Amino acid sequence: MAKRDYYDVLGVPRNASDDDIKKAYRKLAMKYHPDRNQGEAAKTAEEKFKEVKEAYEILSDPDKRAAYDRYGHAGVDPTMRASAGASDGFAGFTEAFGDIFGDLFGAARGGRGRQVYRGADLSYTLEITLEEAARGKEAQIRVPSWDTCDTCGGSGAKPGTSVKTCPTCHGHGVVQIRQGFFSVQQTCPHCRGSGKIIPEPCPTCHGEGRVKRHKTLEIKIPAGIDDGMRIRSSGNGEPGRNGGPPGDLYIEIRVRRHDIFERDGDDLHVQVPVSITTAALGGEVEIPTLDGQKAVIEIPEGTQTGKTFRLRGRGIKGVRSSYPGDLYAHIVVETPVKLTEHQRRLLRELDESFRKGGTRHSPHEKSWFEKARDFFS
Ligand SMILES: [Zn+2]
Ligand SMILES: [Zn+2]
Repeated sequence: MAKRDYYDVLGVPRNASDDDIKKAYRKLAMKYHPDRNQGEAAKTAEEKFKEVKEAYEILSDPDKRAAYDRYGHAGVDPTMRASAGASDGFAGFTEAFGDIFGDLFGAARGGRGRQVYRGADLSYTLEITLEEAARGKEAQIRVPSWDTCDTCGGSGAKPGTSVKTCPTCHGHGVVQIRQGFFSVQQTCPHCRGSGKIIPEPCPTCHGEGRVKRHKTLEIKIPAGIDDGMRIRSSGNGEPGRNGGPPGDLYIEIRVRRHDIFERDGDDLHVQVPVSITTAALGGEVEIPTLDGQKAVIEIPEGTQTGKTFRLRGRGIKGVRSSYPGDLYAHIVVETPVKLTEHQRRLLRELDESFRKGGTRHSPHEKSWFEKARDFFS
């Protein structure tokens, strides 16, 4: 079959500008796109596209166009025709298509080269006591780390064998994939972006080129840290792939429940049991503070359960706080248990004495009865 004239193929005059040639090619490339031509038409479209591509390759190159203008098909380098020939199939199509839409998809095409990946972040849970959280501490934690494999020296190939260039992407790490109308760049599925394949993986690292070990990290836990906060240890996550940066390690703090103190932000709360006599007569009660010292609170006569005393500044100074919080002491009056006969008798006598005084010795009871009476009337 005789070759058609390149200008006829593109449907442009012989004096067409470079821009006109590019526009004509783009229009025809869309028209003969395989996604738009199904069944029998697709076969014809493929042939048409190859023809259009060949014409464009010649006419878009000033030197080749000049040669073609002077000598016709015979004047054009035959290797150029070969590259546009049937052997290329549709791999040639995507490349040519990429060229013309390259500016549209500059970002997606990216640089020619291996894809690099940042390593995954790792997380580690560290349990500490409330005292440690308040004071801060230096903690040593054992975390996974990765070393270059000694067996293969990091190549991932079994000793005596070598790493090969990936035949799918020719070492680029990426392939052009048609998605609907456009061609987009994707990580090579064969080599997963490394551009290399390992025919015989190293038996020690299974082709990873690195082996998992452990290392001890010194972590500084700031004073005032609270349950659920995270500390980032930069670069101590998993290593990246293909020379990508490592991920980070996140240390999540768990503060163990304390036997006495309960934390609420920067404040601390403590329940203080007080005997019935101290509560009734008044007195001093010693309470512990988180820093291991003691504080004394004055219990006034007639103190009830639930009464709260605030000790300013005896809480925790939070990580981002300027001042420490307060310590709240909540009074719990204890009902005496395991009484002797003598104690029972004394209490009954006391009770009789209280009854004579009416409800004035029981402030809660008095108001409670009043409220109940109002409710029922
Ligand atoms: Zn590949
Ligand atoms: Zn190895």
